[in-house]
Amino acid sequence: MKIPLSQKNNCTALAKTSDNAINNSINEIKEKLSATFLEHEIDSAIPFIEEIHELKKQKNALILSHNYMTPDIYHGVSDFVGDSLYLAKKSSQIKADIILFNGVHFMAETAAILNPERKVLIADLSAGCSLSESINANDVRQLKKKYPNTPVVTYVNCSAEVKAETDITCTSANALAVIESLPDKRVIFLPDEFLAQNVRNQSTKEIISWEKGKCMVHEQYQADDVIAQRAQFSDITVIAHPECTPEVIQEADFSGSTSQVSHFIKKGDNKNVLLLTECGMADNLKTEFPEHNFISSCHTCPHMKRITLKGVRDALVHERYQVSVPSHIAIPAKKALDKMLNLSL
Ligand code: SF4
Repeated sequence: MKIPLSQKNNCTALAKTSDNAINNSINEIKEKLSATFLEHEIDSAIPFIEEIHELKKQKNALILSHNYMTPDIYHGVSDFVGDSLYLAKKSSQIKADIILFNGVHFMAETAAILNPERKVLIADLSAGCSLSESINANDVRQLKKKYPNTPVVTYVNCSAEVKAETDITCTSANALAVIESLPDKRVIFLPDEFLAQNVRNQSTKEIISWEKGKCMVHEQYQADDVIAQRAQFSDITVIAHPECTPEVIQEADFSGSTSQVSHFIKKGDNKNVLLLTECGMADNLKTEFPEHNFISSCHTCPHMKRITLKGVRDALVHERYQVSVPSHIAIPAKKALDKMLNLSL
């Protein structure tokens, strides 16, 4: 898990610091950005970064950013960065008047469900997710009718209304552990078909999955491409996100959530890494592991990339776009989220 710019729960990275400390922080940010940004790109980003830090201080706002954010957002303005599980846990603990969530809509919804008393913002309401859009609450109700007395586990990549129909949520970091924690022999697991297949390969349970659910980024990776890369670069460690197909996972040396990938790289001694996940993750890992050689033909998530540094600034200036979930959906959805968070997996 990436160390946040600020360890303090209720202050921004640059708040309550001297001018000298502010300059040092900006210099550190510039240094980090230099791993992936050109000089003129850094020069364009810095005024926005300074303004965003000032706005966070004025408005008592905290910024949570997913690992797929671009480096200017990830390293420049975030108080906490990580995968869905870490950010869900963090959003249930922090104290701020405003939470600005840099990720996609279902993630901001999760923060809103866990923080009904706070203002939760997202810089672009159209930042969706192909997995989340593949299923609605009625689809889940139909499945429950078809498979009565079968618990429903949903990957957090789904809407609040789908979470409200769920017994317990999970993330890619804990999907197997959550499913194995249930006493039932049969489980409905939604909406990611490939994650379900990958969990099925390791689980003793019968898993009913949702064929329509695919991540538009990770479904693009092919096992043949991995084999070709291994032929070209003999000494590589292949890391694939569990939203990839089972054939790709079989060719990989490691599969895990975005935060688990970071831990795995830290522990390993091979400096040549083929990373099969979203481009923002690859860029941020390049900064975290400057000694490593990332062989990456990454694919970009168009939804994640709707969140820009300028959009983040505008979201704080205008306190937009607020994400809220009506209580008849938020209450059952929170129960499903709390069950996962209380498992401490
Ligand atoms: S990378 Fe895939 S799972 Fe993540 S937000 Fe984009 S479409 Fe959804």
